[in-house]
Amino acid sequence: MKDLKLGAKNQKEPQQTIITVDSHKIGLDFIIIAGPCSVENEKQTILTAQKVKEAGASMLRGGAFKPRTSPYAFQGLGLEGLKILEKAKKETGLSIVSEVIDPRDVSWVSEYVDILQIGARNMQNFSLLREVGRSRRPVLLKRGMYSTLTEWLNCAEYILAEGNPNVILCERGIRTFETYTRNTLDLSMVPAVKEITHLPIIVDPSHGTGKLTLVEPMALAAVAAGADGLIVEVHYNPSEALSDKDQTLDPPAFAALAQKVRQLKTFMDSLRHTGEQQRKDENPQV
Ligand code: PEP
Ligand code: MN
Repeated sequence: MKDLKLGAKNQKEPQQTIITVDSHKIGLDFIIIAGPCSVENEKQTILTAQKVKEAGASMLRGGAFKPRTSPYAFQGLGLEGLKILEKAKKETGLSIVSEVIDPRDVSWVSEYVDILQIGARNMQNFSLLREVGRSRRPVLLKRGMYSTLTEWLNCAEYILAEGNPNVILCERGIRTFETYTRNTLDLSMVPAVKEITHLPIIVDPSHGTGKLTLVEPMALAAVAAGADGLIVEVHYNPSEALSDKDQTLDPPAFAALAQKVRQLKTFMDSLRHTGEQQRKDENPQV
């Protein structure tokens, strides 16, 4: 991909971007981001945050600005939502990931969140990309639902080119002719991104499938594919969720997923070490 001046991996000396957020090193440690689709109120957010923390999540997600298909659907609490997220961080220590949808909001939203999320619908909003590129905050760049890998990586390049090296990619599924699932989760992007760039990539099996029963299997598949982390929708009582309730896990289901993910990650790491050891044994002088 010849246009990637900053995002491309140096094939001779492969490097990996590592992004530090609080005590987490994204790109090195596997991260699990979990929380509600939307911040609805203080009780919902704090209770959910406590539950995902107990289950081992490292960061809390929650939208304060919701880009909804219908202008009449719940649009998020805005500033009030960000203040709730700030409180949730104080109470649980979880780092905060939240979406920004308007370039005019980037600088003040950055005061409340640890990672700025760019949603699928805004992946090619170039003025928004440039603005988050000028921010000091790491950016989670979701893949647009109609975007190719080249288009997606060029959007990352917009952010990098403005001087922000801290970009995390997120595969969240694309539109295909399949209608059983909400989107088609394209897990081949995980090894493809790793082949081409040095940026970390995480996977969103919630929006990627839209179906409760498919979230855990696809989370595990993402781990096997080599993802650097997951972002999962969880609500303390999904039946009450104001958005995306059909794909939102309850705390026990999330705890089960997180435990299996950790076990599988340990196993995948052991396979990698076995491979490295075998190469060393076959090639002792290297
Ligand atoms: C979200 O994370 O809540 C969201 C709106 O995701 P996406 O932009 O991937 O649809
Ligand atoms: Mn959602």
